[in-house]
Amino acid sequence: MKKLSVKSNRSYDILIERGILSSCGELIKAVARGNKAMIISDSNVYPIYGGTVASSLESAGFAVCSHVFPAGEASKQLSSIAKMYDSLAENGFSRKDIIVALGGGVTGDMAGFAAATYQRGIDFIQIPTSLLAQVDSSVGAKTGVDIKQGKNLVGAFWQPSAVLIDPNTLKTLTPEFFSDGMAEVIKYGCIKSASLFERLEKENAADIIDEIILECVSIKKDVVERDEHESGERMLLNFGHTLGHSIEKAYGYTGITHGQAVGIGMVMMTSAAQNAGITEKGCAKRIADVLKKYSLPTCDKTPLKLITDGALGDKKASGDSINIVLLNKIGDSFTKRLKKSELYDFCSKGEII
Ligand code: MG
Repeated sequence: MKKLSVKSNRSYDILIERGILSSCGELIKAVARGNKAMIISDSNVYPIYGGTVASSLESAGFAVCSHVFPAGEASKQLSSIAKMYDSLAENGFSRKDIIVALGGGVTGDMAGFAAATYQRGIDFIQIPTSLLAQVDSSVGAKTGVDIKQGKNLVGAFWQPSAVLIDPNTLKTLTPEFFSDGMAEVIKYGCIKSASLFERLEKENAADIIDEIILECVSIKKDVVERDEHESGERMLLNFGHTLGHSIEKAYGYTGITHGQAVGIGMVMMTSAAQNAGITEKGCAKRIADVLKKYSLPTCDKTPLKLITDGALGDKKASGDSINIVLLNKIGDSFTKRLKKSELYDFCSKGEII
């Protein structure tokens, strides 16, 4: 078992092991304060893994109940959270009890937000089952929901009590969901690790996925420890996301995955920065090539003006300026403050790759 400890105001461990799902009960018992556990999961994941997790929790002495919501980003809204509160209250959950988030990024974000707010905060465990959630969203304590004005605009920083990662769950992901997570993996290579990026270029990620998960989680852990509330370095994790979130919004969050949109955002920003003389030549093409290798798009038909206007409503924008993340070269990133009025002109330097 690989173990990483995240230091924060509420520190927690990330445990990575194939098959960890079937022994999760004992591991959760070790950090839980009460004896009730609610599994929160979606209609895709619960039928596959809910039984394994529930029986492991029961064997460890927990009284277990479950709350299952319809799978998909469309569920990630406050009305779904209200239903979670109802389930928790109807089953008599108190502050000492624990929520177990079993699923992908949407599940972790929502179950985490319910945990952050129910009775002003109860404990929760992340059991991420998608690649995106394992390498990215399950670590770092961001929880929340979408509102019609944009993604993740309502939420809380709320640390899990533990993150349990079972790479075996990736076997049941569709190729599209695997690619979705690969966009975040590629992002980690771009912002912090040229060696990871080169491995993604040369090797087949699926063959080395355990090592990839460990490296991405280690990078994220280091970044969030240094900047828990995203006032500085943590912003680097948003590489590709400022434009990516806007593209997702333009699609109404259906018909494009988060990873696809982030990949397009990374290429657009890097191409523009290259032509502005900031990023080393050739980086945008390398990013585009590696995205294509993992079945991700590199450009989109949404008009640039619509994308940049949408980005101005992002959380990275404040006052009359916006923070964007750029690369010096692969593995070396920084944030740049632009006037909102300059974003469109800056991005229009980019080319379709
Ligand atoms: Mg992301």
